[in-house]
Amino acid sequence: IPPVLETRDLHCTFQVRQGMFKPKKPLHAVNGISLKVHKGEVLGLVGESGCGKSTFARILLGLQKPTQGDVLIDGQATSAFTRKQIARRIQPIFQDPYSSLNPRKTIGTIITLPLSVHGVGDPASWRGTVERMMDLCGLPKRVYDSYPNQLSGGQRQRVAIARALVMQPEVVICDEPTSALDVSVQSQILNLLQDLRAELGLTYVLISHNLAVVEHMATSVAVMYLGRIVEQADTDTLYHAPKHPYTEALLASVLTPEPGKGVPDAQLGATFPNPINPPPGCTFHTRCPKAMDVCRKVAPRPLIVDGAEVECHLHDDSIRSAA
Ligand code: SF4
Ligand code: MG
Repeated sequence: IPPVLETRDLHCTFQVRQGMFKPKKPLHAVNGISLKVHKGEVLGLVGESGCGKSTFARILLGLQKPTQGDVLIDGQATSAFTRKQIARRIQPIFQDPYSSLNPRKTIGTIITLPLSVHGVGDPASWRGTVERMMDLCGLPKRVYDSYPNQLSGGQRQRVAIARALVMQPEVVICDEPTSALDVSVQSQILNLLQDLRAELGLTYVLISHNLAVVEHMATSVAVMYLGRIVEQADTDTLYHAPKHPYTEALLASVLTPEPGKGVPDAQLGATFPNPINPPPGCTFHTRCPKAMDVCRKVAPRPLIVDGAEVECHLHDDSIRSAA
């Protein structure tokens, strides 16, 4: 069986200007990402803001065209699909349930809308389908006729989840699904997502800067830095035996909470680089406490080390013996 979701050498380059009179320069937001997610898995995607996570998610959802490479669902390239066809297979759940729900529509209308837009099934069956999904998502029947502002934050996120799942997608992209919620309801929503995954046979890509959430939810984790996956492994391996110095830094939380603000990392002693002018060689060398001379010149190649896929010269015997 092919993986339910796969990307092959995915690239996305934007031409950006850094000042009104400056020439445009390429920004490689996604710079060669190949990964596979199998049915029922939860792939955690972590990395600081600016690393390209959001662009990657937009490509998966068909909202952004890649400049190179393919996204495949069940082995079929989505470049051949219309946006609607992609939406039937991949649905997003966003961070902010406040802004993503239309305040003028009732909950019932909001959850029914994808069915009517995509013409799924017989209109006479929609109400029953929506009520079943609301029930699965822990929403009482009476909120069918309520408006978003009559609901709590947690309930609104349940509505956003029901709206995504009513389409019966194969893959759900959860982009910071709980970071706008009170801590007290975060775990309820995470547990709901886990229950729904088991019940409905879903596959998730979970984008989060919260490493505890990812450890709790994900079956495997991909660590992203400047448009590339620098380390990927099953969750236990990644958390207990990180191989890439950037993963180690993330887990030790020695990174600045606000990258891009020009504040050096407490212990790494440098800031997040400008993605328009990424450092040569290994793009992490400007912050890496273990950088060697070769790191400033040569980009590391992907290696398999004890079950993890990692891009770092420290694990490359041929480089180390030459250094
Ligand atoms: Fe650090 Fe060099 Fe490994 Fe890059 S390749 S993470 S600079 S040791
Ligand atoms: Mg982002």
